[in-house]
Amino acid sequence: MVADSASPETCRPRTPTTTEGAAARAAALADVALADVALADVALADVVVLSPPGLAALANALIGDGYRLVGPTVRSEAVVLEELESADELPWGWDVDADAGRYRLRRRADRAVFAHAVGPQPWKRFLLPPASLLWRARRGESGFSVDPPEDPLPRYALFGVRSCDLAAIAVQDRVLATSAHPDSGYRGRRARSFVVAADCATPAGTCFCSSLGCGPAAAGGYDVALTEVVTGEEHLFLARAGSAAGDAVLPRLPSRPATPHDLDAARAVVGEAAQRMGRRLDPDGLPELLAAHREDPHWNEVAQRCLSCGNCTLVCPTCFCTTVVDATDVTGTVAERRRHWDSCFDLDFSYLHAGSVRASTSARYRHWISHKLGTWPEQFGTAGCVGCGRCITWCPVGIDITAEIAALRGGVPEGGGL
Ligand code: SF4
Ligand code: SF4
Repeated sequence: MVADSASPETCRPRTPTTTEGAAARAAALADVALADVALADVALADVVVLSPPGLAALANALIGDGYRLVGPTVRSEAVVLEELESADELPWGWDVDADAGRYRLRRRADRAVFAHAVGPQPWKRFLLPPASLLWRARRGESGFSVDPPEDPLPRYALFGVRSCDLAAIAVQDRVLATSAHPDSGYRGRRARSFVVAADCATPAGTCFCSSLGCGPAAAGGYDVALTEVVTGEEHLFLARAGSAAGDAVLPRLPSRPATPHDLDAARAVVGEAAQRMGRRLDPDGLPELLAAHREDPHWNEVAQRCLSCGNCTLVCPTCFCTTVVDATDVTGTVAERRRHWDSCFDLDFSYLHAGSVRASTSARYRHWISHKLGTWPEQFGTAGCVGCGRCITWCPVGIDITAEIAALRGGVPEGGGL
């Protein structure tokens, strides 16, 4: 339901053009964090208050409208994204302890449902599936025929999308939905989707969305946004609509009008979250920094640790690279083309006719981080990183994008590194 053009307006990491000093950069980061304590523009009349049963009613309403509900749930000792049958399957009462190369679920004393930060899977798992059949053809007596698509495109209700992931979806929209050569499957899934955002109240130790201007509150790109408030006996969700579809669904739910106290509590939730980010990434001057350090020996040092496993690209919500595999059956009468996610850490990814362009791990890591933070702004108008922290958490050796940038700057990051 969200229009192709909808994107979080605050998630515009400054395209760095200056070489500010350290003090100026620190002040700029503080400004960003404060400026992104969103909800400042939200008026009382635009918000209704849902109770936990009201949240369940929202999930049920979307299922009743024909959406396949997709949201966070606890499985295999992690909060993963799955298709859900009801709000009962959401991770009530869980949060996470995350650091570089570390992720542990924790039980909470309360029943907060969106306290778990982001898990290992980005929403691209549903919008750009890890593996898909592009086409299948059969040879017959009089030529060949192409099978019709197996399934109609699904209508997903994405439930509990964080602001960093909204920003990442907007990045992928630019590449896959609104570019000169859109991907019809992605564009179709996006056009049919309904997005329920959840403002972040409990960032993990690896989160740094606020320093990139991508959170912790949702600033656009949603149909309905929720701010969860859990204080003492009070457990409620402030809900605001961000589209006509969101406007249509909220009046169907059991709710009450918001009070000034409710709105102040919601603002406090996201304001405190912005100050509790586990990490920071100074966005200023990144393209120039990376270009200037192209031959830096630091890349070899990173390569001593990097396993070139590609985890960082698979968990990243903005990475969109894919490859295709053609196959025939043993009789030679059926041929098909499948697409699956690929990674620039794969040696074959840069294979041309005479070999791989990026043969060393140091070249592959340099390429990955330089594309994310150095050349992506020129290519797509924004950085390729939204500060979700997944690549830090799920790197098996704890390589930390914020720490590597700080190392290039010649400093140690606040809260960064192992
Ligand atoms: S940085 Fe970490 S996750 Fe990425 S390829 Fe290297 S070892 Fe794997
Ligand atoms: S580069 Fe890392 S922190 Fe940035 S969006 Fe990708 S996974 Fe998240």
